[in-house]
Amino acid sequence: MAVKTIRLADYFRIHLRKVIYLSAVFIFTEIVILAILIINNLLPSVNPMLLVGLLIGLQVCTLFILLRFALTPLNILTRAITHISNQANDTEPPDINQHTVVKTGLRDMVQTVYNAAEKARSHEVDLTPRSDIADHLPCGIIAMDANGAIIYHNAAAPVISDSKNDKHINLEFPRYDSIKEWLAANTKHKMSDHKMWERVQTAPPGTPDRKICDVIGFFRNGATNGLETIIVTIDRTETYSDDDEALDFISIAAHELRGPITIIRGYLSVLIDELQPVLQDDQFDLMSRLDVSASRLSSYVNNILNVAKYDRHHLKLHLSSERLSDIYESIAPDLKLRAQTQGKLLSVNIPTDLPMIAADRDSLAEVITNLIDNALKYSHEGGHVQVAAAIDGSFIKCSVKDQGIGIPASVMSNLFGKFYRSHRSRANVSGTGLGLYISKAIIESHGGKIGVQSREGEGAIFTFSVPIYSTVADKLAASHNINEGIIESSSGWIKNHSKIGSG
Ligand code: ADP
Repeated sequence: MAVKTIRLADYFRIHLRKVIYLSAVFIFTEIVILAILIINNLLPSVNPMLLVGLLIGLQVCTLFILLRFALTPLNILTRAITHISNQANDTEPPDINQHTVVKTGLRDMVQTVYNAAEKARSHEVDLTPRSDIADHLPCGIIAMDANGAIIYHNAAAPVISDSKNDKHINLEFPRYDSIKEWLAANTKHKMSDHKMWERVQTAPPGTPDRKICDVIGFFRNGATNGLETIIVTIDRTETYSDDDEALDFISIAAHELRGPITIIRGYLSVLIDELQPVLQDDQFDLMSRLDVSASRLSSYVNNILNVAKYDRHHLKLHLSSERLSDIYESIAPDLKLRAQTQGKLLSVNIPTDLPMIAADRDSLAEVITNLIDNALKYSHEGGHVQVAAAIDGSFIKCSVKDQGIGIPASVMSNLFGKFYRSHRSRANVSGTGLGLYISKAIIESHGGKIGVQSREGEGAIFTFSVPIYSTVADKLAASHNINEGIIESSSGWIKNHSKIGSG
């Protein structure tokens, strides 16, 4: 038997035409029969009831034949699709060589349906990890269901069991930036998401077998295979321990240096005040430079000590009602001197009548110092650095704008990372690569955000925001003015260290 092939795209049109022809043939035949009966004057001799019955019977039969013909392709396709859908059913799937399938010209169409199903099946990934392979991987894999329960983990995964044999991830996430909080936010708002945490430790420093991992979470809301969240952990203990040891050593040294530096700065300022009338201009200039260097040294020491605290999740701040302009005034002489000795112009517009902010005075002064110091350092000779502040909703937003070397887009994402210094900075300008890292930590510990806008060669604008005191006063009162209260109320503000804020 010759196999009929109809182009899939033409099938419906051809089938419809066939149905219309068939209907026309039936109607014509009926009319011919009626005409013969009338011409031969046979109708009056037939009982009228019998005639009506015959006509209805004829109509039903033709309709039935017509419908059967019209719906056969639909029937075949429905059986084919039911078969590939994996739904329980007791219909036989159509065989592409079956007489009806070939006769109706549906062979290609059914074949296409079967092929598509086959293709989809071959792309389905079996997400149940083969334990023999997964257990040999150096990274941890943890799979969790929609309730956050661990349903699989491989050998390298940091998972522990409690007394009830329930499994838990053994990682110390930053208090308000854990997997639990990420998942809680995801299940409410997102269909899918992923997130990365850096330097998450299994135990505090000094604990035997302590590991430090980078962690990546993948989330798919309502995933059909039941594995809603997959967590991958990469053990980077060796790399990070080196950093940690270096930081431990540096912070001990920094701690020891703090006392003598404070004394040097004190004597210097007394000397400058006392000697100013008798010093010649160039001598006074030298004294000022000494003072600037001493104050910068003191900023570095503060940054290092704060980083050590922050990395151990101890950046607990006492926030009180402060005036931003007053905080700036406390560091203004120092910064003005830095600008002056570097031949740069610093103009500051922080209105004194802005609402009071919730701030830790010294920490915020450190952030402003870091940002202005960077703006001065990375500006050209004679450059202008502008500082401004204004209300932004329930926050005060402060910006530090320079016209300096700017920041290439490619390094933007690293800027707030620990020890990050761009190539050019390393070669030309002194620094530690800790200023922005700790500034971000401090601002986020205030429940605020820090960010930057810049283009290479076109200067940079760093902005940070801190909450207006009255908007967080209740929460602060409830937590004895410790920052944890306001960070808790705004989980999500504290972000992944590696990402940049969106000021
Ligand atoms: P550093 O001690 O190197 O200044 P920071 O953490 O303060 O460390 O800054 C990190 C890097 O960000 C700097 O090395 C520099 O490359 C870049 N950077 C910071 N501020 C500016 C700025 N205002 N203009 C251009 N680059 C900047």
